Amino acid sequence: MCNKIQPADQVSDAQHYRGRFAPSPTGALHFGSLIAAVASYLDARAHGGEWLVRMEDVDAERNIPGAADDILRTLDAFGFARDGEVLWQSTRDDAYAAALAELNAAGLAYPCACSRKEIAARAKRPAIDGSLVYPGTCREGLASGAAPRAWRLRVDNVPLAFVDRLQGEVVQHLEDDVGDFVLRRADGLFAYQLAVVVDDHFQGITDVVRGADLLASTPRQIWLQRCLGYPTPRYAHLPVATNTAGEKWSKQTLAPALESGKAAAELVRALAFLGQSVPVELSRATVAEVWEWALGHWSFTALPRQTAISAPAAA
Ligand SMILES: [Zn+2]
Repeated sequence: MCNKIQPADQVSDAQHYRGRFAPSPTGALHFGSLIAAVASYLDARAHGGEWLVRMEDVDAERNIPGAADDILRTLDAFGFARDGEVLWQSTRDDAYAAALAELNAAGLAYPCACSRKEIAARAKRPAIDGSLVYPGTCREGLASGAAPRAWRLRVDNVPLAFVDRLQGEVVQHLEDDVGDFVLRRADGLFAYQLAVVVDDHFQGITDVVRGADLLASTPRQIWLQRCLGYPTPRYAHLPVATNTAGEKWSKQTLAPALESGKAAAELVRALAFLGQSVPVELSRATVAEVWEWALGHWSFTALPRQTAISAPAAA
């Protein structure tokens, strides 16, 4: 169905590497986000590439005032040198609307009138991300008198496979595993999946290095890339840091905010989490010295291949 581009049409190896770090301003940066920042940064630099920062503030209701500025200040204090201007998703509605219009014109998107309750009543199984597989109620058109609420993208059940640089081959059957998924929500906001795909393409991203909590989203994003005729970046999904209860460190699990005064020590801790053979002397180094060592010794092959690793909060 979405075959403007064949599955093999990946970004080419000859293309100049462009990576990114894309935090959501739903709170301060924490150790879990630092891992993705460090790994995406060092992979980009090791390839002589660029590293862009994108503020994923598309979900306006979840944004915390001041968090975006705080994140950017923290990245500076931790010694990250970003390339180009920060891209703010909150400024990108026109681009997302254009992509949705294109999908609609191609017959790939359709309006959905279902409430959460109606989906829950008809859904037959849980989706791969813990929600429910959309039962396809509005696929062949809205019931008469039904008002459109959200927009969804058609999927099929042909196995969608990609090879992750860390996690190996990943396969999903989108129809069984997710169902037709939301592009624009009932509240009018564009969905994360659409925004990420449109922005990765807009920014010319060749390589995505991020946490494995997003691994299950990647087939949806690849499907969208094919529907929109975009090439697919290379992906590397890092293990996520979990607390002693086995939960991913996040704002919801009360991950402590990164402290700029402890930047060097936190960077060393992130490098150790990422399997790098950090020398003992580095524990007393400055931020600049830590980066000098990391840029000279970064080893992608040393990265752990699990999807989660326990990393108790630092004392
Ligand atoms: Zn529906």
